[in-house]
Amino acid sequence: AQKKGQQKAKKPPIEAVLYAEVALNRPMRREYTYAVTAAFADRVVPGVRVAVSFSGKREVAVVTATATETDVPKGRLKAVDDVLDDEPVLDEKLLELTRWIADYYACAWGEALSAVLPAAMKREGGRKTVAVLYPAPGVDESRLEELEGKPSLEKQYRVLRTLLDARGPVLRKDLTKKLNVTFGPVQSLVKRGLIVIDQVIAAPDDLLSGDREARPRHAALTDDQATAVTRLTEAIDADEFCPALLYGVTGSGKTEVYLRVIEEALARGKGAIVLVPEIALTPQTVGWFLDRFGSVAVLHSGMTDLQRLDMWQRVRSGEARVVVGARSAIFAPVKNLGVIVVDEEHEPSYKQGSVPRYHARDVAVVRAKNVGAVCVLGSATPSLESWRNANQKRYVLLRLRARASGNPLPKVEIVDMRGERDERGKPRLFSRRLETLLRETIARSEQSILFINRRGFAPILWCQECHETLKCNECDVAMTWHKRLERMACHSCCKEIPVPKACPSCTAPALRFLGAGSQRVEEILRLIAPHARVGRMDSDTMMRREDYEETLGQFGRGELDVLVGTQMIAKGLDFPRVTLVGIVSADASLHQPDFRASERTYQLVSQVAGRAGRADLPGHIVVQTTATEEPSIVCAAAHDYDSFALHEDAERERHGYPPYTRLLRVVWEDEDEKRVLEASSHAAKILREELGPHQVQVMGPAPAPMALQRGRHRVHVMLKAPLSGQGMSRARAILSQLHTQRPRMAIDVDPASM
Ligand code: ADP
Ligand code: ZN
Repeated sequence: AQKKGQQKAKKPPIEAVLYAEVALNRPMRREYTYAVTAAFADRVVPGVRVAVSFSGKREVAVVTATATETDVPKGRLKAVDDVLDDEPVLDEKLLELTRWIADYYACAWGEALSAVLPAAMKREGGRKTVAVLYPAPGVDESRLEELEGKPSLEKQYRVLRTLLDARGPVLRKDLTKKLNVTFGPVQSLVKRGLIVIDQVIAAPDDLLSGDREARPRHAALTDDQATAVTRLTEAIDADEFCPALLYGVTGSGKTEVYLRVIEEALARGKGAIVLVPEIALTPQTVGWFLDRFGSVAVLHSGMTDLQRLDMWQRVRSGEARVVVGARSAIFAPVKNLGVIVVDEEHEPSYKQGSVPRYHARDVAVVRAKNVGAVCVLGSATPSLESWRNANQKRYVLLRLRARASGNPLPKVEIVDMRGERDERGKPRLFSRRLETLLRETIARSEQSILFINRRGFAPILWCQECHETLKCNECDVAMTWHKRLERMACHSCCKEIPVPKACPSCTAPALRFLGAGSQRVEEILRLIAPHARVGRMDSDTMMRREDYEETLGQFGRGELDVLVGTQMIAKGLDFPRVTLVGIVSADASLHQPDFRASERTYQLVSQVAGRAGRADLPGHIVVQTTATEEPSIVCAAAHDYDSFALHEDAERERHGYPPYTRLLRVVWEDEDEKRVLEASSHAAKILREELGPHQVQVMGPAPAPMALQRGRHRVHVMLKAPLSGQGMSRARAILSQLHTQRPRMAIDVDPASM
């Protein structure tokens, strides 16, 4: 059926020879039919972009299907205004993948498509070019003679000289600026036939030309590595979908396995995608792949639209066969895709926070399945979801048991903070042990890293006497304070209670809000070690990529003694002179109002532990906590993921959390509180009625985390559904009917936290 507002084109009737279904990048859960005239008919096929007018505006849309008939009344149809591509920008498989994303993550097909296409392809005329200059073919040094020694030709001489010295095309803009010349001399040189001016799509960014770090290609793989590579290569040979969990501690040689498997794929004419967390997308990581494979496309969030477009085209043309990138690189149009690697598969940053709210790891598995590729999920601390999939034999489990170097894993010291009080009886931020170690490390001119969990600012109530957090008695999840309501709320089941005066566990009137940020740690550190050179890295101090690189550079050159930071510094950093690593409070992470709190804590501690003991100097790792018995901390300190996973898996099952259930979260947001409450209550009522028979639990409405944000009220409803049955798909169907109403709702399938 056609939208009502789209009627009455008061023009002569359209001579349609074909009808195209198109997806628009708008939050509407349907496609629209447009007529195609004979002039365009041969180019309108699924996957091609077209320009259409929609509610009076010209928009770029993607053709999803064509038909020779339509039941839309002819008078209401409008015609496709233009066809923007000669061949589909998305092949059938990618189109299919976007359809899956729209269905699974409950968004419009056009919204899913918009995640796949580079921004520059989502508008007309988006293919802007820049002017580049290079010497004309056959022109060499000898031609400088004709310009030499004449003052009037001096500028032309310098331009040609520079272009001859440059090894490739030079941006006109850069050249004229650098030589401080106008366009005149450039034009004269073109007239003389000495140089060529060309329009090209913007050049890829410096990451590509940056320093390459060679990585030794270890001729002898360890037995575990060899087994993994062999198993995966067999699957590549068989064109077989093979999802695998590559589980191995930091330094066990996972990266080497990725590199080998990609080599095997390339040797068979197949391509590869490597996903890494944005933060790990450093020139170093990229360098390893460049060094091994040469033509690698890098996709990261710091690139301009034109750079992304250029990369995308290099991939699509088959020029680059390996793509390394963050989340969105999963959509790279790699030809004959043979391998997808998801490094650090447990990383929460793989989940996109805005529409379409997809999880790149899960999309990777689906994409691999659609094309019959290998999908390697690598981690030292797998997500419970992947761990269960591996244990249930849905994924192949490949283990790397030891560090490739043979170095033992570092010893982790757990420091009990329960006895640590200052002279006034207040809990201390630094234990005496950590303080001593810090002073000693600084005195030896070695370096220290201190981690503080930024999210420790979460307003959680914590008892200073018995060290229990106030938890929801239904969910075993920390309750958070809602300032406006002056109540504690559970983000999981939406229960609310008044703020208690005394601790429900020990009855002491000693409840306090938990959390000390990185700033506070830095302040106290300056008291303990006034002469130490301290650097801080968190989202407040690190606004730009350059800040990040600068601070790390200083630390790497030994210009800082102590680096204080959030999780931002926990990954991928390798500093040989660091001999002390401290987690200031593992409690902050442990007591997050999130059923994944234990999993995140395990990941944090073991990641930090993986930072040390890489070089020759012996290292201390100190974890400060009041929860010295907590399995996530005890197991992480002992490098025992298996025991942790066993325990945590049972907890998830007991409390009905993923991977034993599926979650879906709906958030309403509006300036008008009443509207938000009405809309959410209405939706919750319908969901309860309709989903009851499907065993879906509907919780809320209740204030969402950050219940008031920039003057907008936020309310949410949670759904928890059994793994089998029609519950979730019914829920999606109901929500997609409700979603046109205002205030609009945000649907998050498999939310990252809850
Ligand atoms: P991971 O990705 O699991 O953290 P890496 O692949 O980075 O581990 O390997 C850790 C270190 O071990 C690197 O310095 C790497 O060069 C080295 N390494 C990897 N495989 C081997 C091997 N087969 N023999 C010797 N050293 C190896
Ligand atoms: Zn609860």
